[in-house]
Amino acid sequence: MPKDYFLWQGRIKMSDTVLRATAGGDSVRIFVANTSNTVNEAFKRHRTSPVVSAALGRTITATAIMGTMLKNDSDIVTATVKGDGPIGSMTVTADAKGNVKGYAANAWVELPLRENGKLAVSDAVGCGTLTVIKDLGLKEPYVGQINLISGEIAEDFTYYFAQSEQTPSAVALGVLVDRDYSIKCAGGFILQIMPEADEAIISALEAKIASITSVTAMFEKGMTNAQILNEIAGDFSPKILDEIPIRFYCNCSKERVEKALIAVGREELEDILQKEGQADLHCHFCNTDYHFDREDLLRLLGN
Ligand SMILES: [Zn+2]
Repeated sequence: MPKDYFLWQGRIKMSDTVLRATAGGDSVRIFVANTSNTVNEAFKRHRTSPVVSAALGRTITATAIMGTMLKNDSDIVTATVKGDGPIGSMTVTADAKGNVKGYAANAWVELPLRENGKLAVSDAVGCGTLTVIKDLGLKEPYVGQINLISGEIAEDFTYYFAQSEQTPSAVALGVLVDRDYSIKCAGGFILQIMPEADEAIISALEAKIASITSVTAMFEKGMTNAQILNEIAGDFSPKILDEIPIRFYCNCSKERVEKALIAVGREELEDILQKEGQADLHCHFCNTDYHFDREDLLRLLGN
């Protein structure tokens, strides 16, 4: 078995990556991501219902791709989808090294399927905003915000790129949930038109993308990112730049949480010790609880 394949729940899954490519002589940038394992890890950690897996998984895929657009290793991008639907909000953070983590305010939302059998993602998300914050190590982070166009996530990111980053883009995202609620496959692509692209290429690509009915169908068939790239841009001399491994990863730890506790200040900590005798902290991103008993708090206070 090739080393980038591994056995997972009885199936052979490709490891998750973002493939970065250009086409049309660098006038088009294309990112293709397979995120099945990453979205499945989110499902396992948060026990998301199918419609939340779809909404969160799409957001995870888009944000993971945006992570690979960052210039420096320490740069971080956070996308927050905040709607008035039952999910409430979703927050996903990714870095340039392929680490992505995310959660939904309400992980278990049950809605009837649409008549066409599809998950009612936009109903679960509702009306609201998509906010993108990029921490690029500068004094002020970059912040872009749009009103959600549909709540289907891909259209919302498309609109975000056009409005906030002035980059005409096509975004396709998909999550296929299995009968046992685990993730059968997930992934997507983002295609961006650079200013130098000529009209002929743009309209040909538009027609090509319009003909792609389902990105999940391609992943379900077992197509690799490179094959999907070829499907989209095969006629425009695509050039693969690299392929970056991605994974669901949270950098929280007992030590980091301790530091956060110490940062609340000695007085506050003594107050918690007196009134509660313990402290419980929770990492929303990976759904991990951190418990600090009396002994722990005394130790943090240096007693
Ligand atoms: Zn965590």
